[in-house]
Amino acid sequence: MIAAGGTIGILGGGQLGRMLTMAAAQLGYRCHTFDPNADSGAADVCAEFTSAPWADRNALARFAEECDVVTYEFENVPLGAARTIPADKLFPSARALEIAQDRLHEKAFAEDQGGRPAPYAQVDSLDDLMTAVGRIGAPGILKTRRDGYDGKGQWRIDSEREAEALRLPSSSLIYEGFVRFAAEFSVILVRGQDGEVRFWDSAQNVHNDGILATSCLPPASVIAAQIPAARALAERIAAALGYVGVLSCEFFATEHGPVFNEMAPRVHNSGHWTIEGAVTSQFENHVRAICGLPLGDTALVLPNVQMTNLIGNDVNRANELLGTPGMHLHLYGKSEAREGRKMGHVTRVWA
Ligand code: AMP
Repeated sequence: MIAAGGTIGILGGGQLGRMLTMAAAQLGYRCHTFDPNADSGAADVCAEFTSAPWADRNALARFAEECDVVTYEFENVPLGAARTIPADKLFPSARALEIAQDRLHEKAFAEDQGGRPAPYAQVDSLDDLMTAVGRIGAPGILKTRRDGYDGKGQWRIDSEREAEALRLPSSSLIYEGFVRFAAEFSVILVRGQDGEVRFWDSAQNVHNDGILATSCLPPASVIAAQIPAARALAERIAAALGYVGVLSCEFFATEHGPVFNEMAPRVHNSGHWTIEGAVTSQFENHVRAICGLPLGDTALVLPNVQMTNLIGNDVNRANELLGTPGMHLHLYGKSEAREGRKMGHVTRVWA
């Protein structure tokens, strides 16, 4: 167990690190953020900040030395950097990061645990793509295997002709059949060092242009019916990885049951509602899990919750939204409101 006053290292300094840091401070911990980008949202709130390239092994060694435990807040932390942290200090493990970083490995891993992803194929050439479209059909989505997030690195393909005309990027790719889903949802769990698992209620998620727009509770009945199967899969994934911390899995609710989309070995945007909507937030429970503290109650505080992301210029409405009774505002301290950039979110909870 890490005693209060101890230091939590966080690889990555975005808004997830910022909110983790705030939850950690409440429990008496100091946070030390490592991010190559010095202008990060977590820098405003953490006790210490190391800005160095991921390849700087000396800086990583010093960072690990100064921390009692280390976690990560985004899944594109280079694996080589994560592996420099002693395995008994890093939660979740580097293995969880390795799987989640590659859409191909992630889907194969979920299948091994009994999950059902969309039909998919590895694509390294135009020939591969034509074979994949022939077998899986169109429409479909071509995605980069690595480094994609918020709909980046994705191309919708509606016909073989469209596929043929594509100039493929040089990165490794995956082609996925288009899933005709009724709704989208996520399963977020926390797993402690003793293997205890707790789930939050599953929010219904709506994405616009591949970016999460809202997470709402309670979810539609089509989702409610599929939560047990989705939870069982998420729990098997967590157990297979000996996972410690918060794990997020995204699903499509279809007429044939839940289809696994992807997993994130970290706190997740679709769990931001837990700050005000649950007895214990995803951020606090992640800190509790990695520090070996007892896990907190994940129950809803009230039955209705809506979390809305403030993306790009939406942030200009922040003060107006604050005027709504019961509205909670979170801004991430980013100066430039670029299109598609997550600037903050608002949450409302009601009876
Ligand atoms: P991802 O980055 O894979 O989570 O994709 C972002 C969003 O794009 C998802 O939440 C869906 O709304 C949509 N999407 C991604 N893959 C598919 C798919 N195979 N079929 C239908 N919609 C998809």
